[in-house]
Amino acid sequence: MIKTITKEVFYYNMKNIVVGAGIGGLSIAALLAKKGQQVTVIEKNSTPGGRARLYSEKGFKFDMGPSWYLMPDIFEDYFKELEIKVTDIYNLVRIDPSYRIFFEDGSKVDVYASLEDNIKLFDELEPEGGEKLKKYLEKAEKHYKIAKEDLLYRDYNRLLNLIDGRLLLNGLRLPIFGDIDSFIQGIFSSDKAKRILEYSIGFVGGSPKNTPSIYYIMNHVDFKLGVWYPIEGIWKVIEQLYEICLKNGVEFKFNEAVEKINVKGVAHSVDTDIQHYISDNIIVTADYAYSELNLLDEENRSYDKSYWDSKLFAPTALVIYIGLNKKLTKLLHHNLYLAGDWNLDFETLYDPDTPSWPNEVSYYVNITSKTDPTVAPKGKETIFILIPLPSGIKDTYENREKWYQQIVSHLEKLADEKIIGYEEVKTIFGPEDFKRDYNAYNGTSLGLVHTLNQSAIFRPSHLSKKVKNLYYTGQYTHPGIGLPLVLISSQILVDRLIKKT
Ligand SMILES: Cc1cc2nc3c(=O)[nH]c(=O)nc-3n(C[C@H](O)[C@H](O)[C@H](O)COP(=O)(O)OP(=O)(O)OC[C@H]3O[C@@H](n4cnc5c(N)ncnc54)[C@H](O)[C@@H]3O)c2cc1C
Repeated sequence: MIKTITKEVFYYNMKNIVVGAGIGGLSIAALLAKKGQQVTVIEKNSTPGGRARLYSEKGFKFDMGPSWYLMPDIFEDYFKELEIKVTDIYNLVRIDPSYRIFFEDGSKVDVYASLEDNIKLFDELEPEGGEKLKKYLEKAEKHYKIAKEDLLYRDYNRLLNLIDGRLLLNGLRLPIFGDIDSFIQGIFSSDKAKRILEYSIGFVGGSPKNTPSIYYIMNHVDFKLGVWYPIEGIWKVIEQLYEICLKNGVEFKFNEAVEKINVKGVAHSVDTDIQHYISDNIIVTADYAYSELNLLDEENRSYDKSYWDSKLFAPTALVIYIGLNKKLTKLLHHNLYLAGDWNLDFETLYDPDTPSWPNEVSYYVNITSKTDPTVAPKGKETIFILIPLPSGIKDTYENREKWYQQIVSHLEKLADEKIIGYEEVKTIFGPEDFKRDYNAYNGTSLGLVHTLNQSAIFRPSHLSKKVKNLYYTGQYTHPGIGLPLVLISSQILVDRLIKKT
């Protein structure tokens, strides 16, 4: 039967190659397949998920990268496009207390799901702290809504969108200029209040001094929208996306690395280490900098090496996975240790000249078994520790062991329990692994940080500037880093692809 030819039907059955099966690759593949297109996803690793892969050993299940499920509204919006309700595919629970922060002076605070409890907390931190927090969060909520509607979902590849009056007007109402450090310091006087509100900047890979003040909306995200956890871990989201892709006919090629993107006037085909694939569209979700510099001939690159060298990348990281054969009662699901000299910590991270182990080390500890009995054998804990490190740091077996001993013996003090000697699983994932496993440019854990000139229109484009039918999605593109933002990036690109006819 011949249907009315709408733009979407016209576009039906095009062939798409997606490079990479991280959340970027899975989310774009699912949307395209839902629209009736043929999709083949090529992934160099053996499983889907990319940085959000699952690692399991001896009954312990670790999310290898992301552990904070934030912005549940964005996940809902994404799955709605697939006509799926989040509640039908995974079980979300709100974490309360949201997290525990340990300070260098030995004190600790818990941030709660309830606003009233957090108001009490801030009253203890500084005079009228609670009232200030309340007003600050009210404003952050208003600005989050504006930013979500007018900035996050905006397709900056369209000129018309750039000169849209509403954007300009609303843009002017947002605190875009100035850094978040000065912004928060202008409101809160206590060092602890400031740090509690600033740590979340780590989610977008930056430091408080290089991140625009508008990112204070992240405080609305964690204080008001809440910190959530899908039972079985972030992996459950990846697994469900993968299943949806399979159900909609997406073909997956694992253990196959794309080595070349061929251009014949337009994007034409890819060569992997195994096969040659011809396609109508090629969508790259692998590390943007790596892909442009290694998979394309020079004349086909939108950005040359000097472009990438001029950019600010998120640091690399050391990630420790421990399957512990006992429980730790003094730690929560999410725990942060914030070191003494906050600024020194960030300075070392972003100093490319002397990549060394920071003098002041802040770190994050996630224990999913506090909430979820499915991720660890009974009576045991699944522990994930994340330490940001400067790119270029010497990552050797000896260094890793030294770093491990330093961090884990420090953690033993916070936990008031021995950990070393009780590990059933002990695995360290370092800067060299980021390069080897994900082709991460200089081992970056998160790609381009969200400075003002690396946000929105200034992020690398979804559309190749040189090659027709070559596209990009994932954390390098607008809106940026983190699972929910990558979902939006794929929504923007699919919308663009469908409308392109
Ligand atoms: C340690 C860590 C903690 C994080 N914590 C959080 C968090 O708590 N919450 C949150 O929301 N976000 C978090 N993030 C960020 C989030 O994980 C990323 O922004 C997101 O997963 C990026 O998805 P992506 O698809 O863009 O990239 P990737 O996940 O890197 O996917 C790209 C894929 O491309 C593949 N690939 C590369 N080269 C090739 C090639 N030549 N051929 C074929 N395949 C190739 C890679 O193997 C990879 O699978 C964290 C990230 C890390 C590393």
